[in-house]
Amino acid sequence: MHNKSLSELSLLLRQRECSSVEMTRYFLDRIENDNRLLNSFITVTPDVALRQAKVADERIQSGNAETLTGIPLAHKDIFCTQGVKTSCGSKMLDNFIAPYNATVVEKCQAAGMIMLGKTNMDEFAMGSSNETSYYGPVKNPWDTKTVPGGSSGGSAAAVSARLTPIATGTDTGGSIRQPAAFCGITGLKPTYGLVSRYGMIAFASSLDQGGPLGHSAEDVALLLNVIAGFDARDSTSLNHPKEDYTKHLNDNLAGLKIGLPKEYFSEGLDPEVFKVLEAARSELEKAGATLHEIHLPHTELAVPIYYIIAPAECSSNLSRYDGVRFGHRCNNPSDLTDLYKRSRAEGFGAEVKRRIMIGTYALSAGYYDAYYLKAQKIRRLIRDDFVAAFKQVDVILGPTTATTAFKIDEKVDDPIAMYLSDIYTISVNLAGLPAISIPAGFVNQQPVGLQLIGNYLNEAQLLNVAHQYQQRTDWLMQNPLGIAG
Ligand code: GLN
Repeated sequence: MHNKSLSELSLLLRQRECSSVEMTRYFLDRIENDNRLLNSFITVTPDVALRQAKVADERIQSGNAETLTGIPLAHKDIFCTQGVKTSCGSKMLDNFIAPYNATVVEKCQAAGMIMLGKTNMDEFAMGSSNETSYYGPVKNPWDTKTVPGGSSGGSAAAVSARLTPIATGTDTGGSIRQPAAFCGITGLKPTYGLVSRYGMIAFASSLDQGGPLGHSAEDVALLLNVIAGFDARDSTSLNHPKEDYTKHLNDNLAGLKIGLPKEYFSEGLDPEVFKVLEAARSELEKAGATLHEIHLPHTELAVPIYYIIAPAECSSNLSRYDGVRFGHRCNNPSDLTDLYKRSRAEGFGAEVKRRIMIGTYALSAGYYDAYYLKAQKIRRLIRDDFVAAFKQVDVILGPTTATTAFKIDEKVDDPIAMYLSDIYTISVNLAGLPAISIPAGFVNQQPVGLQLIGNYLNEAQLLNVAHQYQQRTDWLMQNPLGIAG
């Protein structure tokens, strides 16, 4: 059962070969058996899941089920879930039971999907390896000595190890795509504003975007159908007409123009990863696409300016955790200042503190113009690079990451090395574009991700290209070691 696609699972349910309660129990058992090793869940919610599954079974019986009714999923622990702990990977929120559901959670529930639990993540989504989580690192199912990527590493590992058929994640600078690449699955970061941020705990509001992590482009398209859509409660939500993202999956790629940014295939890219991408490129050529060299000249500025803008926004967003209104409160404060100081000192981990300090510095009166304002201007140039590129090509192809998954502990003490590992993913968030990472092969039995970047609201085309590639290759059929084929 765990190797089935969402459409296959949906068919099992509709043909009554399996009930949602049985399917849910099956995945809860898998979590019970394997999660101790992987640490991919912070909270497992069997009671909620089985209750929702019973309701889903009744809905299927009564004949008004939707495609994903009765199918289990896991939510990144950044999405507020009513009555269920929502920690955002932080000690600060270890005691936080959300009083309401995020729009994404609400939409999944309305579609009749079953919540198995909440997945592990880097603290407040700040990280590329899941090692900043208060709940300990997640292990990569392909090699448990390596990281699963971050910050949605719990979701990626859980999908990869087939503990859940699909999961949600968020991507501020690569946090859906990079873990998808490291764990050998498919992850889509939608256009900024396509998926509501309401109830998604804020890290850097102008960059944060929720999206699906699943095995295939088709699975990801099905979940996107559920979670995309205008939300009046999110002031940056796009009022874009509802689309069926599965509609163009089978379109022919003849005539498709694929751009290859020179800056993405240069120094720094592992030569073995490069070879995998070369093979993928020719596969797409065989499918009828043409390849064109393009330029994204401001690429090298993306990481430095992201690490001004994201910390600036985070320093503002995280000021709400004061030990009074939210989260952890220190014991026996001597006065209000002591309460603020010690609650924040005890509640936040080292990476979060580093970013709050960088952000506060960059926004301070004397440095605002030199850092924050300058970064915003460069952000516009990065966006303009893409706008120019999309006048020449339909989609852009590149690596998701420069290497395969690195070892746990390898980069924890070197924040700059960790930050640089996001080089290929961050520009997309700065520009607000959609992008997908899909499995494209292996280097030393570790998965390699291929990234496709689309023009604004061009998710359907990205999913089409990804699906066509996945029809022609069998990377999706491979499972991490120890997981039955
Ligand atoms: N790794 C990046 C960071 O630490 C991106 C994180 C994310 O996308 N949430 O900021």
